[in-house]
Amino acid sequence: MPRKVPSAGESRLALVRRARRINRILAETYPDAHCELDFGSPLELLVATILSAQCTDKRVNMVTPVLFAKYRTADDYAAADREELEEIIRSTGFYRAKANSIIGMAQALCERHGGEVPGRLADLVELPGVGRKTANVVLGNAFGVPGITVDTHFQRLVRRFGWTTETDPVKIEHEVGDLFPKAEWTMLSHRLIWHGRRICHARRPACGACPAASLCPSYGTGPTDPAEAAKLVKPGPFS
Ligand code: SF4
Repeated sequence: MPRKVPSAGESRLALVRRARRINRILAETYPDAHCELDFGSPLELLVATILSAQCTDKRVNMVTPVLFAKYRTADDYAAADREELEEIIRSTGFYRAKANSIIGMAQALCERHGGEVPGRLADLVELPGVGRKTANVVLGNAFGVPGITVDTHFQRLVRRFGWTTETDPVKIEHEVGDLFPKAEWTMLSHRLIWHGRRICHARRPACGACPAASLCPSYGTGPTDPAEAAKLVKPGPFS
């Protein structure tokens, strides 16, 4: 039976050690963890990440082959017929706002960056429709620059693990980032997102089937009975 780990009173050193042990367990559990959005260039990843807001990666991946075949450069998006673009991306939801973001982002790329996606956080977050989360996805996965992606899964899991009590995404990013070497940030983000999608669900996490259970202070949030928990596990893939 996994031990319930109290996080109250845990020293900083113990927290860092526990966090890194959890990261190692998740690395063994999800050796193939990666960005589940399909892309072939920084621009494609930027567009796919904008489309992924309030939408599954799987749905985005159904839309992007047609989109990427039609619009190949920032110039193409900047000059896009809005209605045509909206029609292609409609099934991802919030398609009007997303079309605005994509066209505005592409126009800014053409005006400020010669049509290329910049590889710096400060430049990326200045683009219309691009927040810190999107910028870190692009940096980590298209440029190899370590970045922490604080999405809904990441936020839920780091609080359940007792790594932070913050609710503000930027504060979470910094607090969690301080627990790990920078080189781990991108893969850590993928592993947590994979674990959140497959086992540590928002409602009814599969605690009885969780490889990190012995290190998790939230063990027991979901069913601990192995047979019951096993039924809750979603094997993926999600793309
Ligand atoms: S599934 Fe349960 S034990 Fe595993 S990380 Fe989530 S809350 Fe903790």
